Amino acid sequence: MTVLQPNLVDEVRADESFNASACMNCGVCTAICPMELEHLPREIFRYVLLGMKEELLQHQETVFSCLLCKMCEVNCPAGVHITENVRSLRHYFDRKVFRI
Ligand code: SF4
Ligand code: SF4
Repeated sequence: MTVLQPNLVDEVRADESFNASACMNCGVCTAICPMELEHLPREIFRYVLLGMKEELLQHQETVFSCLLCKMCEVNCPAGVHITENVRSLRHYFDRKVFRI
């Protein structure tokens, strides 16, 4: 059973920016990613917005596999700041998982 955590997006944001609310789940980012990261950005961003913390924590490797190349970002029709969001997620993992 999925346990939802409504304040997950605030936890990820902390003092940085995380904004994926404009994402319309079109799939352009997934199709264009040179690393073929099928869960990033749209699926993992959705976990954050919906408070699905367990699912987010299962995709730590994907978040750290992103090259931050911006291929997805420059082609995103919704103008989502994808790489900035990925950086925020990495900092979130550092704080919550690695306790740095
Ligand atoms: S390209 Fe942009 S709008 Fe489309 S799924 Fe990816 S992040 Fe969302
Ligand atoms: S920034 Fe990351 S998710 Fe986007 S295309 Fe590059 S490797 Fe893929």
